[in-house]
Amino acid sequence: MLNQPNLAVNQAGHLTIGGVDAVALAEEYGTPLYVLDEDMVRGQMALYREEMKKSLPSGSRPYFASKAMSCKEMYRIAKEEGIGADTVSMGEIYTALSAGFSTEDVCFHGCAKPWAEIEYAVKAGAGLFGVDSLEELARIDRCAGENGVCQRVLLRVTPGIDPHTFSAVDTGQVDCKFGEAIQTGQAMEMVRRALGYTAGILDLGGGLGVPYTAEEPTVDYAAVIRSVGEHLACRCQALDYPPPAIFMEPGRSIVAAAGVTLYTVQDVKSIPDCRDYVLVDGGMTDNPRYALYQARYTALIANRAGEPADCSVTLAGRCCESGDLIGENMLM
Ligand SMILES: *Cc1c(COP(=O)(O)O)cnc(C)c1O
Repeated sequence: MLNQPNLAVNQAGHLTIGGVDAVALAEEYGTPLYVLDEDMVRGQMALYREEMKKSLPSGSRPYFASKAMSCKEMYRIAKEEGIGADTVSMGEIYTALSAGFSTEDVCFHGCAKPWAEIEYAVKAGAGLFGVDSLEELARIDRCAGENGVCQRVLLRVTPGIDPHTFSAVDTGQVDCKFGEAIQTGQAMEMVRRALGYTAGILDLGGGLGVPYTAEEPTVDYAAVIRSVGEHLACRCQALDYPPPAIFMEPGRSIVAAAGVTLYTVQDVKSIPDCRDYVLVDGGMTDNPRYALYQARYTALIANRAGEPADCSVTLAGRCCESGDLIGENMLM
């Protein structure tokens, strides 16, 4: 089991999440079931909010990258915790607004935004657009002009850094569908067209790590934010540049550790001299990340959580795709 303060085993040998019996939850609501520990979500949001206020220039703030968990309740919590929302579609903006979010606190990100969605966000009064390309900048400019709006924008640039992660989640290198590259001069061209002044906001995006297994290191988010503050102060002084407000877009680091998916085991298949499959009543439909890029997870048997995890199995879903797995070599 992951070493997290909100996970425990009760007297019946059942997993508890934030003190609530996981087996009872599965019985009451059915499976597959996403369970989110609200206290933990609020705690992470508060950590970003407070630490950024303390260690970064004024105006700095976190935006919850809502693709990590986009539903009305999450937006309601984010609003109450005073953090913004990063959205990547009209649907997400609509969901945020219907949960009472103010459009001012919404940033519309993502590549390949259709005109109808740009128009929807401009008219709704989205606080910020994350501009993904030169052509998109022109489209947003035209749309804002037609609607008599002066739209605030962030410009997404790719710094040309290879982050050495799985290629499906790389975003910083020049060869990337997101943003305009600094190396090719296209980022500077975008800056020239959009900015006649000193940039007042530097948005560092998301991507702060999350441990998914017991072997992976935990991250001290407050320390990361402090080191950003120190580095920023140092570089701004060296470049004689006014320190910009820092935006961050944490997604998984807000919700991942707080979230557990409950499934019901439907079948166990032992294939001699091969492997053991444990088949559950969900799969890539509710968790596509293993199928997309082999994201690793920790699994355990919720109604026997106190027993040692000594069987290595392949956890598979019920979709008619052989790639519909939730994990391989998982100890349960
Ligand atoms: C996915 C995404 C993030 C968040 O990434 P995490 O790894 O979940 O923190 C932030 N900003 C944008 C635009 C994204 O698409």
